[in-house]
Amino acid sequence: MINPFFANKFEQAVKVTGCPLCYMRQQAEVKYIRSIISDHINDPASRVHIINSLGYCPTHTWKVAEVEKREDGESLGTSIIYEHLALVITERLEKLKRYPNLLAQDNPLLQQARKYLPQQASPSASLRAEKPCRVCQMSTESDDSYVRWLLEGLADPDNDETRRLYKLSNRVCFDHLRQALDKAVPASAAGLQFLLEDALETLKTLDADLRSHISKYDYDKRSPRSEGEQFSWLRAVYFFAGRREGDNPRPEFSDLQT
Ligand SMILES: [Zn+2]
Ligand SMILES: [Zn+2]
Repeated sequence: MINPFFANKFEQAVKVTGCPLCYMRQQAEVKYIRSIISDHINDPASRVHIINSLGYCPTHTWKVAEVEKREDGESLGTSIIYEHLALVITERLEKLKRYPNLLAQDNPLLQQARKYLPQQASPSASLRAEKPCRVCQMSTESDDSYVRWLLEGLADPDNDETRRLYKLSNRVCFDHLRQALDKAVPASAAGLQFLLEDALETLKTLDADLRSHISKYDYDKRSPRSEGEQFSWLRAVYFFAGRREGDNPRPEFSDLQT
């Protein structure tokens, strides 16, 4: 049986442009970021994690700032996180202030000797994160569940609603297809089979459209391009790169949509 939590989100996700699982992951990230900002900003355990991971990865640092500004119209949470972090980094930089002097004093003999010493930490070690970005971790966990639930839904012998919805979507991206291969289990094997057959069909059509599109740059210049050909390059980008954050250019998926 399809997971009801997944079914609800999937129905929305198939309506947007690009990979539906990328969209679901992006939405889960927004929800998680909102919970950090509204509930956990002053929670000591969360603060420790934020310091250990030195905030978030570049993508999620932007996302935290943008989500708060867009949804709450302010930047108090972002300011609290980075005020604390700026203080921590200032203390660490103070300790590194003497490093350029030590470096300048270094001589060739010392450099030779260093080769025989045990591997030392890099000069920037204290400015690097001990733990991964928490949003990345959460995002991987939710991605994992969504991929498994999609496979379960597509494998359900008593209900083909997930298959019908999937055919309305722009199909999963390359990364999510690989994840599906790795996460399928015996009970969801039929779902994987459906996904692979559909991906093969979609890619063959894409390849044919790309070939015609290319030929019309050259020897076939006068023939008009079909919609499928015209947007084939964009469909290829969506497949190989996945869905982008925010607004996505809208290609006309005129091939296999039913
Ligand atoms: Zn994807
Ligand atoms: Zn991240």
